[in-house]
Amino acid sequence: MSTGIEAAGLSETQRQIVDLVREFARTHIEPHAAEWDRVRYFPRDVIAELGKLGFLGMVAPEAHDGMGLDTVTYALALEELAAADAGVAAAVNSHSALPTTLLARHGTPRQQERWLKPMARGTVLAGVALAEPEAGSDIAALAARAAQRDDGWALDGIKAWVTNGTTADLVIVFARTAAGISAFLVPTDAAGYRPEAPADTMGMRTASTGVVVLRDLRIPADHLLGDDGQGLVYAVEGTDAGRLGVAALAVGIARRALEHAVAYCSERRQFGRALREFEAVQFKLADMATRVDAARALAHAAAARHDRGEDGAAAASMAKLFASEAAMWVTTQAIQLFGGYGYMRDFPVEKLFRDAKAMELYEGTSEIQRLNVARGLTAGR
Ligand SMILES: Cc1cc2nc3c(=O)[nH]c(=O)nc-3n(C[C@H](O)[C@H](O)[C@H](O)COP(=O)(O)OP(=O)(O)OC[C@H]3O[C@@H](n4cnc5c(N)ncnc54)[C@H](O)[C@@H]3O)c2cc1C
Repeated sequence: MSTGIEAAGLSETQRQIVDLVREFARTHIEPHAAEWDRVRYFPRDVIAELGKLGFLGMVAPEAHDGMGLDTVTYALALEELAAADAGVAAAVNSHSALPTTLLARHGTPRQQERWLKPMARGTVLAGVALAEPEAGSDIAALAARAAQRDDGWALDGIKAWVTNGTTADLVIVFARTAAGISAFLVPTDAAGYRPEAPADTMGMRTASTGVVVLRDLRIPADHLLGDDGQGLVYAVEGTDAGRLGVAALAVGIARRALEHAVAYCSERRQFGRALREFEAVQFKLADMATRVDAARALAHAAAARHDRGEDGAAAASMAKLFASEAAMWVTTQAIQLFGGYGYMRDFPVEKLFRDAKAMELYEGTSEIQRLNVARGLTAGR
């Protein structure tokens, strides 16, 4: 069966990237993903291998040792990773979308030399600490504070749900200064950076997501990223790329659920026939495939817009909204087609269903994406 990617008219470079990531994911990630999920294991060694192949530097400019890939190709690679394990794909996206993009755009040459190049080469893993226990959708309400000291900054606050937060080497922390909200480069070995144990999440259990407490965390003055008070502007800039990444993850999850469902419906027999011979089953599979391909097409259209430098906030929200809801729907149908076995941990589709749910929540919930899309429709009226 065509996964739809083959039909998407890939360039030679895209074909090579997809083949390389698919081969790696099928060999080094997918065979272990169920066990990692069961014991909540973050495969740092596998992420390091991905780094050696250049896949932590996909969106970093070539001048900074990255691959300098366009966003469509980045989405294709993330889809392959997510089809094997969405947690690993989320770790890569949390490293790439916001930290890499912001360092490339706003970092000083010294910051780029110290952080961006090792990030692109995969020897430094990064994450983002924006949300807080009392500030999720309403991110402008964040309460973490950064006070200027003679020799730099002192950060205090609590950050929630930091993907890679317990394992990263560098986290971009957003905190309030006298000038507004600012972004800081925080090495996780700084005294005062205290990650709690990874959260016991429903899905995405291979991504190390958890609370980080910042207590009198001291960093030098040159760890401010960009201009003081511009943090929210930067967060919004990075968010589009992050949302396109989540859309690609959702496509990967949905595609894998569809592939499992097609295989199972060909093997499983009831009433003397393979399930796939029942028209009701065929209709379900057809609807699943249609949503997978539609989600990918929307994600790639939004990614292409992002690459052209157009204002693509509403398009990124639309892609993330549609793809995450498609993933939730497709994985629900996959469980239905597996019947009672679909509800069992021994079979792969319940994990995909649990992983899919996160897509509707992080990088902005579906409600927040709808507000963005609606805002785009009424802008200027
Ligand atoms: C797996 C996972 C990984 C994450 N990784 C990171 C990370 O790496 N870094 C980071 O900073 N954050 C991360 N987050 C945090 C994530 O971005 C927030 O959870 C998300 O933005 C929602 O915020 P909240 O959980 O506080 O929900 P709330 O904002 O409290 O929302 C609760 C409900 O109210 C709805 N709601 C809120 N406001 C409105 C409104 N105006 N209109 C209509 N409905 C509304 C929401 O849609 C939702 O249904 C992660 C979250 C998860 C689950």
